[in-house]
Amino acid sequence: MSDIEIPESHPRYQSLLTRHRIEEGVEKGITSRQGLIAQGRGEAFDYLLGERTIPSADEATRAAAAHLLLADHPVISVNGNVAALCPGEIVELAAAVDADIEVNLFNRTDERMRAIVDHLRDHGADEVKGLTADGRIPGIDHERAKVDADGIGSADVVVVPLEDGDRAEALGAMDKVEIVVDLNPMSRSAQVATVPIVDNIVRAVPNITAHARDLRDAGATREELETIVVEFDADAALEAAERAIRAGADDE
Ligand code: ATP
Ligand code: MG
Repeated sequence: MSDIEIPESHPRYQSLLTRHRIEEGVEKGITSRQGLIAQGRGEAFDYLLGERTIPSADEATRAAAAHLLLADHPVISVNGNVAALCPGEIVELAAAVDADIEVNLFNRTDERMRAIVDHLRDHGADEVKGLTADGRIPGIDHERAKVDADGIGSADVVVVPLEDGDRAEALGAMDKVEIVVDLNPMSRSAQVATVPIVDNIVRAVPNITAHARDLRDAGATREELETIVVEFDADAALEAAERAIRAGADDE
């Protein structure tokens, strides 16, 4: 992000940098124009949260890390917004928990699929799934149902940052542990997740990696990881996030 002309001291530096990345993503053919709107919706919630990771989101992130460490076949799903905002951080998370990366788009075009795969490779990914598209998510329409059979199709744990509500629901029905990152605790994606992380993906993804490394370095046993997973309460996390957002709105 060398071409950005915002001083780091600017109070809205992070937010402006994020916008700049999304804009660049659209220019490069990675992010769809719809993605700009999704980003705008997310920003509004982030503003009310105080653009910080609230404690309940940090707890969710730790539970997500525990799930990923316990998984047999974890997969991280990447769309155009995720690819534009935190490609290097996705690659690092995948390495930290030994997960596959799969490109999965709401508005799937071959061109955009390839642009995202190349972009992730430029950021250090070696294998990126998603182009084979020989698997289907049951219950949703053809184009949006496409996944790789040996990727999301056979994953036991999936990380779906910014997934749309419909597909999040269908993935959940496939008996997968679903980790959703979404700034809107009222969105269907967050509501159907096994672990909803109500935080900006630019903070959440590196935070999952940090928790995974901490747990591993501390020598956490399977039993200890399972305890973290069982003790996590998704409804309580969603309620805490909604309270924080409503309190933020009252402060304005
Ligand atoms: P529903 O889930 O209720 O069906 P939707 O998924 O169709 O709604 P969209 O506006 O299309 O709603 O999805 C965008 C979602 O992504 C919003 O909930 C928004 O808060 C979230 N979002 C956008 N940018 C970010 C970001 N950088 N980090 C985390 N979440 C984000
Ligand atoms: Mg949603």
